[in-house]
Amino acid sequence: MSAVPLPPAVSAEPPPLRVRNRFASLGPSFFTELPAQGLPDPHWVAVSQACARDELGLPDDWAERESWQALQVFSGNALWPGMRPLASVYSGHQFGVWAGQLGDGRALWLAELEGPQGPREVQIKGSGLTPYSRMGDGKAVLRSSIREFLCSEAMHALGVPTTRALCVTGSPQPVRRETIETAAVCTRVAPSFIRFGHFEHFTHTAEDIEALRRLADFVIDAHLPECRDAAQPHAALLETAARRTAELMAHWQAVGFCHGVMNTDNMSILGLTIDYGPFGFLDAFDPGHVCNHSDHQGRYAFARQPNVAFWNLHALAQALMPLLSDADEAQAALEPYRTLFPRALEARMRAKLGLATERDDDRELIDGLLKRMAEDHTDFSIAFRALSSFGTADGADNRTVRDLFLDREAFDAWAARYRDRLRAEHSDDAARALAMKRVNPKYILRNHLAQEAIHRAQNGDFTEVQRLLKVLQRPYDEQPEHEAYAAFPPDWAQHIEVSCSS
Ligand code: AMP
Ligand code: MG
Repeated sequence: MSAVPLPPAVSAEPPPLRVRNRFASLGPSFFTELPAQGLPDPHWVAVSQACARDELGLPDDWAERESWQALQVFSGNALWPGMRPLASVYSGHQFGVWAGQLGDGRALWLAELEGPQGPREVQIKGSGLTPYSRMGDGKAVLRSSIREFLCSEAMHALGVPTTRALCVTGSPQPVRRETIETAAVCTRVAPSFIRFGHFEHFTHTAEDIEALRRLADFVIDAHLPECRDAAQPHAALLETAARRTAELMAHWQAVGFCHGVMNTDNMSILGLTIDYGPFGFLDAFDPGHVCNHSDHQGRYAFARQPNVAFWNLHALAQALMPLLSDADEAQAALEPYRTLFPRALEARMRAKLGLATERDDDRELIDGLLKRMAEDHTDFSIAFRALSSFGTADGADNRTVRDLFLDREAFDAWAARYRDRLRAEHSDDAARALAMKRVNPKYILRNHLAQEAIHRAQNGDFTEVQRLLKVLQRPYDEQPEHEAYAAFPPDWAQHIEVSCSS
C-alpha cells in the first residue's frame, strides 16, 4: 500500500453518482492504492457523450461543468469524492510464453459508479508509474489513446462486446517512444476490467489459492450471479467465460476485426474486447493478416484468433484448477467452446449473406465466397455491404458487387449458387437488403481513417476525432454526407505500421 497522499477530492459540487467500489473491497493482495501522476496542463481531445449517458447516466454538459472539474479528474489531477485510485495486479502468458507478474502498469482504477444499466468501473489509462510498470514509463501517447477511444466506441456501435471509452485528454508533456510524442489519458468504462491474467496471477505467481477463490467468488457474485446456482459455481464460471469468448470470437471474425495482442492478460473474464493496441479491421480479405507489426510469427493472425482464444481459455482453466474437482471438470467446462464458436460464426455469416433459413451446405457457400475474396484480395467490408444489393431476378444487374472481384467467372459461378440458394427460400430482395445492411457495416475504423484523425490531433485540431466518432457510432446507416469514410483505403494505408508501442 502506498503512503503517498492522494490529491484532494473535488467536492464543490460533485456529480450525483452513487459510488460502490466493490473491487476495492477485495483487499491489498489484489492491488496497490496510489495517486495518479496526472497530465500537466491538460486539454480535452475527445468525449463520447453516448458512453457518458448510457454507461454513467451523466448529463450532456458533464465535461464542461465548472464545479465538476471533469477535465482534471480524467487527466489524473483530481478525484470525485469516493474515488479510490488503484492499480490491480495480474500476470499472464504473452505470445504463448509465461510472463509472470504484469498488472496495471499504466492504468488506474478510479471507482465503480452506479450507471443506468448497473455498476460500471472507471479506469484512466496513461496515468503514470505504478508498482507494476516494469520497464515502462506509465504513460500513454496521444496516438494510441485516440485509437483505443475510437475503436472502443466503434466496436460498441457495431454490437461487439467491449469496454467503452468515455474520453481522451491530452497534454503537452513529452513522452519518448520511437520519436518524441505527447502524453494523453484515455478513460475506459466497463462492468469489470478483470482478465484471465488476474486468475493466473494468484495461482502461478502469488500461489495464494485463498485469494484465487475470493477472486472467483467475487466475479460470480458481482458479475455472473447465475453461476452461483450451478452445482459447481467455479466450473460454471469457466464455462461462462468459454461461452462468452466463443461469442466474442464469432463477432470479431464476422466483422473482420483483428485484435493483434491476444495475450491472456488481454482477455476479459466477461468476454469483452479489451486493451486496444495494434488492432486492425481487415481491408482486403486475407485470413493470414497480421495487424501487429511486432508479431513476427503471426501468432495472432486474423484466422488464428478463435484457436488462440481457446488456448487462452485453457490457460484460464489451468489457473482455476485448484478450485475445480479434477481435469475432467475443467475439460467439460471448456468443451462448449468447440461447438458454440463455429455455430455462432456460421449464424453471423448466414446473416451477412441474408440467409433466413439453415441448410447443411451453407458452410460451403460461405467458404466459397471467402475463398474468392481471399484470392482476389477483395475488400471485406465493402464486398459484404455491396452484396446486400444483390438481385435474384433473371438478368439482374449485379455489377456493383461483381466488379469487386478480379476473377469474374469464378464470382459468377459462386453468384449462381447464391442466387439459387436465395430463391429456394423465396428471399425478397428488398427485405433482404434491409436486413443485410443491419449486419454488414458500411463504416469501420480503418487504419487510414484513424491515422488521419491522429495526424490532425497531433497538430492541435481535434475536430476530426470527434467527427469520425460520430460516423462510427452509426456504422450500419447510410450517411450520404460521409461517403468518403466508406471508401477503399488509399494506397498509403498499406504501409501503415502498427506496433505494440503505445
Ligand atoms: P499490453 O500488451 O499493451 O496489454 O501491455 C502489457 C503490459 O505492459 C500491461 O500490464 C501494461 O500495463 C504494461 N505496459 C504497457 N505499456 C506500458 C508503459 N508505457 N508503462 C508501463 N507499463 C506499460
Ligand atoms: Mg494489456
